[in-house]
Parts: sequence; structure tokens; C-alpha cells
Amino acid sequence: MPRGRSKKAAASLKAGRSGGEGKDARRQRPALRQMLETRGANFTRQREAVYDYLRQVDHHPTAEEVFVAVKRELPKIGLATVYKNLEALVACGAASKLTYGDSAARYEIRTDHHYHSRCLKCGLIADVPPAAGEQLIKLIKAPRGFKVEDCRIELLGHCKNCK
Ligand SMILES: [Zn+2]
Ligand SMILES: [Zn+2]
Repeated sequence: MPRGRSKKAAASLKAGRSGGEGKDARRQRPALRQMLETRGANFTRQREAVYDYLRQVDHHPTAEEVFVAVKRELPKIGLATVYKNLEALVACGAASKLTYGDSAARYEIRTDHHYHSRCLKCGLIADVPPAAGEQLIKLIKAPRGFKVEDCRIELLGHCKNCK
């Protein structure tokens, strides 16, 4: 079981592309196929459906949420398959996985380095514009001898529905 596999280090601290280019999903197909195949993974209809769902949403869903959504389109799909497909997308660089301690991992289509806000009540996770992120990192001093590989900044609070 691939449990406990750590999030692929999105090592670059650069704030890259901001996504949101065109809604023409079909044009992404060859790219997705290629990404999967270079990692020795197959391009399947299920993977495509999982990928398409991630492309449509920006709320960083859990595997279970993805499962519920994709099941409407592919009624025979199981949660374990959705989980495997998500991991395959993460492994080939087509999606990212966010882990939060013991709570369920969340997935998103963005793979550039960016930050999140998290609602303490409903758990909603939203992307934060990178604006000051890079400057902020420079102001934080790592402990002596600690080699920084990645960093996360998370804004905790209450979303507009939970205020
Ligand atoms: Zn909330
Ligand atoms: Zn995000």
C-alpha cells in the first residue's frame, strides 16, 4: 500500500504559473497522457475523469470527495481506484497532494509552489496569492544546521461562510 508516501517536494520556491488558462480540457489530454506514460503509468478513462474533476474545482478535495464526484460519471469506480489514480497523477506531476497531520490528504491540480488558507471550522482550503510569500521566507531564519527543503505558509481562520 502506498500509504504514508510523502508529498512530492515541490522544491522550487518560485511562485510559478497561476493556472486558469483556457477551459479547453481536450487540449490537455495529450499532455496528461504523456505525463502518465513517462512515469510508466497508463492513461485510463478513470484517470482522465479524476484529472478533469480536479481541473474544475479549486477547493482542494479529499479522495472521498473526488470519488463522490467522479462516481456520477463512472458509476463502477471504487474509492480505492480513485485513491490510486490520484496518487498516479501526483507521481507524474499532474497534481499535488496536501497532507495535514492526521486528517485526510487533499488534492489539487496546481503543482506550483503556493500557499493556502484553511478554515478552522469547515476545513475549507483556498489558494493564497503568492504576493509576499517569497519575501516572507527570506525573513525566517532556519535553526542552525537545518537544511530547508520546502516550506509551507498557512493562514488559519474562518472562511466567509463560517465567520
Ligand atoms: Zn469555513
Ligand atoms: Zn492550492
